Amino acid sequence: MTTPRLLRATCPDCGVTRGETHTQTCLTVECLHTGMPRASCHSEHAPPLDHDCGNATWDGRWPGHDECRDFGWHITWDPATEAWVRCNSDVPGSGPDLGRLREQAIWNSQNRTWRQRRAVLYGRPRSGGRATTEGAAAHLRGWCTRRGLIVVAEYGTAGHAELCWQAVLEDLRAAHADVVAVHAVDALGPTPQQVSARARAVEALGAVIVGPGVRFDRAGLVTGTTAA
Ligand SMILES: [Zn+2]
Ligand SMILES: [Zn+2]
Repeated sequence: MTTPRLLRATCPDCGVTRGETHTQTCLTVECLHTGMPRASCHSEHAPPLDHDCGNATWDGRWPGHDECRDFGWHITWDPATEAWVRCNSDVPGSGPDLGRLREQAIWNSQNRTWRQRRAVLYGRPRSGGRATTEGAAAHLRGWCTRRGLIVVAEYGTAGHAELCWQAVLEDLRAAHADVVAVHAVDALGPTPQQVSARARAVEALGAVIVGPGVRFDRAGLVTGTTAA
């Protein structure tokens, strides 16, 4: 069940009413292309503009606030450490973590909303037996959660490795997932050849491989693995 949302009659920055187009100088309005504040597209530090930011209307909602609440991505001031800390959205006095939203979520310009990225987990059975394999999978799930990923499927800790890998690719093809998460590069396969072949297969589907022990070069190729 969705909690009813309060709509605000006017834009808190430029003051236009619902359904009206924000002014050109409004600081609240989002860029329809990126979902970021439109002002950031035009800041002197921004790269040359390569898109049309559009002219969004005020729809009664602060851009991104509902999503932060739905995802449980809020921040609150912690007097003990004198810093902003992440918290759930039901904490009284907390506010939306828009920085996290913009870093970790995906903007959908069609319906002007953000959604969490979805991950499919993949890992071969590890030497050390079931406990090691399970431990690695649990660690990876935690890593995904901290990065705002929703784990939609998990393959490979049991069962036939190649069939599991095909299931990963099928999820990417069907757009059920955006990224493949592995605990380390060698989880992709026992040989460097297989690792690069699988990395290329993922890239060819427009997805990426992420994980605590995964590093890429600037071309998006896996370059190595580091300790998690
Ligand atoms: Zn405005
Ligand atoms: Zn823009």
